[in-house]
Amino acid sequence: MNGKIALVTGASRGLGKNTALKLANRGVGIIATYNRNAAEADTLVKDIAAAGGKASALQLDVSQADTFAAFAQQVSQVLGTTFGRDRFDFLVNNAGIGFRASFMETTTAQFDELVNIQLKGPFFLTQALLPLIADGGRIVNISTGLTRFALPGFAAYATMKGGIEVLTRYLAKELGARRIAVNTLAPGAIETDFGGGAVRDNEQLNQFVASVTALGRVGLPDDIGGAITSLLSDESGWVNAQRIEASGGMFL
Ligand code: NAD
Repeated sequence: MNGKIALVTGASRGLGKNTALKLANRGVGIIATYNRNAAEADTLVKDIAAAGGKASALQLDVSQADTFAAFAQQVSQVLGTTFGRDRFDFLVNNAGIGFRASFMETTTAQFDELVNIQLKGPFFLTQALLPLIADGGRIVNISTGLTRFALPGFAAYATMKGGIEVLTRYLAKELGARRIAVNTLAPGAIETDFGGGAVRDNEQLNQFVASVTALGRVGLPDDIGGAITSLLSDESGWVNAQRIEASGGMFL
């Protein structure tokens, strides 16, 4: 994967940041998008450069689909100026928000926000960026273990992620002609800022997750950045249209 270029959404922290760092370690150039925290994105770019890699950061709110055409133009410019290329190789649709409410409590406004960020965003962002993805490239969409097992409080969130898993298969079918492989990576519960950092900071929740996980602990960002990197590696090129769960074996 040395010399390839990846665009990772929501890369200023959490799983996106870990993925960007791991890919950069393998010689992959990084276009990192951030929503609000330019300083964190800047630090990521500098850290990658300090380790001998190449990266650039662009602002992107994935809930604003009407900005995606202009964003694609920015990506095109960065590809030329920073990387001397006109296409990139890997798209990681990672940006997302945690949301917890029972089915009965979920409002239409909350549902709409989730649709915009978790489903409409990746759908139309991928559409806008597709002309810039090289033939033979890869797309990884981030889902969740919550599409396989059901926990009260995640009906709306998991519904969106279920949609992403279906979209993955449809994209794999339609993009096969361009040799673009598309897969879903579904993390279990991971210690990040996600959902207010509950898995990391709430001791009771942390222990509960560990107790229902075959490998006996909650997940860490390294577990997911590593799984995404291996999915994008040359060795995984024949893996297509799959949902790969990286949860340490939750709720088996
Ligand atoms: P996080 O909260 O640490 O990071 C989320 C990232 O998404 C941040 O960089 C944030 O800026 C970005 N983001 C949020 N809303 C955005 C918007 N409107 N536009 C652009 N960027 C936006 O959480 P994380 O754990 O790193 O989550 C990353 C992905 O992993 C999400 O899609 C999430 O649903 C998924 N996931 C997380 C867990 C977990 O337990 N942490 C489990 C399963 C799936």
